[in-house]
Amino acid sequence: MRIYADNAATTKMSKKAVEAMMPYITDIYGNPSSLYSEGQRAKEAIENARETVARCIGASPKEIYFTSGGSESDNQAILTAAANGKKEGKIKIITDAIEHHAVLHTLRKLEKEGFEVVYLPVGAGGIVDADEVEKAIDDRTFLVTVMYANNEIGTIQPIRRIGGICINKKVVFHTDAVQAVGHIPVSVVDDNIDMMSASAHKFHGPKGVGFLYVKKGIRLHNLIEGGAQERGKRAGTENVPGIVACAAALEESVSNMSLHAEKLTSLRDRLMRGLNEIPHSALNGDPVQRLPSNANFCFEGIEGESLLLLLDDKGISASSGSACTSGSLDPSHVLLAIGRPHDVAHGSLRLTLGNDATEEQVDYIIESVKEVVSYLRGFSPVWRDLCAGKSKFLL
Ligand SMILES: *Cc1c(COP(=O)(O)O)cnc(C)c1O
Repeated sequence: MRIYADNAATTKMSKKAVEAMMPYITDIYGNPSSLYSEGQRAKEAIENARETVARCIGASPKEIYFTSGGSESDNQAILTAAANGKKEGKIKIITDAIEHHAVLHTLRKLEKEGFEVVYLPVGAGGIVDADEVEKAIDDRTFLVTVMYANNEIGTIQPIRRIGGICINKKVVFHTDAVQAVGHIPVSVVDDNIDMMSASAHKFHGPKGVGFLYVKKGIRLHNLIEGGAQERGKRAGTENVPGIVACAAALEESVSNMSLHAEKLTSLRDRLMRGLNEIPHSALNGDPVQRLPSNANFCFEGIEGESLLLLLDDKGISASSGSACTSGSLDPSHVLLAIGRPHDVAHGSLRLTLGNDATEEQVDYIIESVKEVVSYLRGFSPVWRDLCAGKSKFLL
């Protein structure tokens, strides 16, 4: 038996999304820019998908640009806001310390070009203080970019308030909503959003496709030059099967949203209660203002990587906040930003449940994590020192 508990990393494609894309892989393979009927049918499918996506987030179809996913959307939103800001002689961007690397690395690039970026700290719960955003905005500021929900610790940000502040201050507001769209209610109008990134593979669509919402009136610059696809803003022959499946997946996710969210919230709370029983452990992120599927913990005296490998042996797919596997020994910037010391941040575990999760599975996860944590602590020198009083417990 396998339990896939890494839905923040990617999700399984829904049956409806697979079925929706099939005809565009097999029969309707024409280039949407072609004038004959195969091409026109493909074009029609894209425009229908655009309408569906727009409806799901409260936008108008003309405000939706299909991209290769969340990273590209984040890059395009931020770089083009910067180009517009520069024209007005503005140089300052406000963000926070726990953004996704697609946002952070784009901002680093801009800093090297002379832009000024303010990284607002987050509280212990991982929430950005909207009042701090307001205070940070001055007349040189052109962009605020704050993610809708965090991919590691699941905290949901006060997007509507921050968006309202940006409207008053006449500053563009972008949000990376990759973890939110399809999972919690998102409305670009009600939430006062100017630009928003989303990615299909995070809501049961395919990988390599997503979209950028850009409010009417904002001049979008392109990252990719070439043909006139996406109204001249994103060149390259469209990923027709991907776009069609993206829309089908989003429509399905939105229509089942409240049902799934209610079920997941109760399973997540069960999981959090169970894991809380482990001594010297702590929940990461706000206990209430968090995504329905996300539970993230730190366990003192162990390494996240060993924990993941042993859980994998037990049939559980999970993730750790630390980036050791990708060749860096730095713990997650998100866990450090919420005040976890380095050693503690290394012992983290992220579990993100899927819509088909059950109570039995959650209980099995709890039991397995308890077992593996105490097994690993059994031969951890760090744990021995903690128990011997040679170093102090931090959790
Ligand atoms: C997954 C993710 C991204 C990147 O999306 P891709 O489609 O994989 O490029 C960006 N931001 C957040 C918050 C994410 O979770």
